[in-house]
Amino acid sequence: MRGGRPKVAIPWASAHPATMKDLRLDLDRVALKLRRTRIVATVGPACLDPAILAKLAEHVDVFRLNFSHGSHEQHGASIALIRQACIQTGREIAILADLCGPKIRVGRFEKGFIELVTGTGVTVTTRAVQGSDGIIPSEYQGLIADARVNGRILLDDGKLELRIISITGADLACEVIHGGRLSDRKGMNLPDLAVSAPAVTAKDIADARFAAAAGVDWLALSFVRDGDDIRGLRQLLAGEGYHLPIVAKIERPEALTHIGDILQACDALMVARGDLGVEVPAEEVPLIQTELIRLGILTNRPVIVATQMLESMMTSPRPTRAEVTDVSAAARAGADAVMLSGETASGQYPVLAVQTMDRVLRMVEGHQWRYNQFGRLVGEAQAVLDGARPDDLLSEALSRAVAQLSRDLNVRAIVVPTDTGRTAQLVSAERPAAPIVALCPDGAMARRLKLNWGVLPEVVGPMADREAVPGIACGHACRLGFTQSGEFLLLVWNPTAAGRMLAPTVTILRA
Ligand code: PEP
Repeated sequence: MRGGRPKVAIPWASAHPATMKDLRLDLDRVALKLRRTRIVATVGPACLDPAILAKLAEHVDVFRLNFSHGSHEQHGASIALIRQACIQTGREIAILADLCGPKIRVGRFEKGFIELVTGTGVTVTTRAVQGSDGIIPSEYQGLIADARVNGRILLDDGKLELRIISITGADLACEVIHGGRLSDRKGMNLPDLAVSAPAVTAKDIADARFAAAAGVDWLALSFVRDGDDIRGLRQLLAGEGYHLPIVAKIERPEALTHIGDILQACDALMVARGDLGVEVPAEEVPLIQTELIRLGILTNRPVIVATQMLESMMTSPRPTRAEVTDVSAAARAGADAVMLSGETASGQYPVLAVQTMDRVLRMVEGHQWRYNQFGRLVGEAQAVLDGARPDDLLSEALSRAVAQLSRDLNVRAIVVPTDTGRTAQLVSAERPAAPIVALCPDGAMARRLKLNWGVLPEVVGPMADREAVPGIACGHACRLGFTQSGEFLLLVWNPTAAGRMLAPTVTILRA
């Protein structure tokens, strides 16, 4: 270092004083045995082939069915193919049914598309007509009632923009502010207008019934406004005997206003950056993403970061540097899961996209682990949700201690026998240094846990004999290759069924 410039403290400088060579990590050397950040991949025509699905299944933790597209018959066939791929690879993979909510779309055009020219006029109509030059049909019947003169209409994820000039009968006369090609069934957003459509539509109810009966593991609800949207769906399904966990997709400004209520009601969040980035100024999206991840960690709700993560891989075998950095940043910020949409559903390189995501995550996690950065994501214990149950607070404090022990003792695995999944989720939210092996009573519970950071669910059936549990825990940790004889592992469990046991306890074992 020259002259009088102050020395900058670099945390790893003592180990590597002269160069930045260690930043050139070798993936084979740094990769952890278990990738902590989960991968969600959307299924569609590009991957619905048994050979391709089997390749995806080697890395994917959750397959997403997008109910914006496809019939029940097609989704049923996809579910059968996914289950077959799981059997083939011997992996538990969850299925998430993503309900489209009141997504507003344009209708169909005579030629499949029209060209909108900037500065010209165009009519948006709710009349049942086919689209043609100068006419855009909309299937949303509430459009005219919700519309306001000067309000913006954004089309195709905001790539095209119209401004409403006047409202007459079923027609909105608009000016094209940003033109381009508009194809059949592209999305329509009305960011300046309060959209009155209910969050759970008749189609969502039919889709949710179908998905629950078909045995999916998670539901996601789009365009959630507040906790009541989630509670309504949950109640409806419970009335029919289905108890599925629900992901709230955060993509509307109203959802940000009611985020505390939504967190109370939901089981997980999705940062649905596609519609969110149209509904709020794009520059706010990274900060909203960071804040939602933080709130998810604080309230023990897994968070999925979604949309355009490796978008260029729709048509290119290599991602852009910015995309790789985006995936890496989401993992560093503490996301439980990152999601691929078109990349796997309709792109040219679905397998490469999943493999790329896997490599990027392994690299960044190897680096985080090496520099003891996992736990730093988590702040002080806080009962951020009103009405948090006292036993939740005890379990949370215990989970925090488990994460600390995992670092202090350099343990190789944390084993959590779990009936409801709750303890495994709480331990995951504390981002411990070691992988969490969740011993589950059945496949359904194992698949639910596939959305949680750092959890490897194993199906072991009911474990009635408490005395046998430590031996079973060591056996699984060794068999999975996490621990070798003599190494430490932590067991988080209820050693007795006695009623005085308020929260689980932690036992330090030697394998
Ligand atoms: C999004 O808008 O980012 C999203 C994930 O939702 P969808 O793919 O259903 O538009």
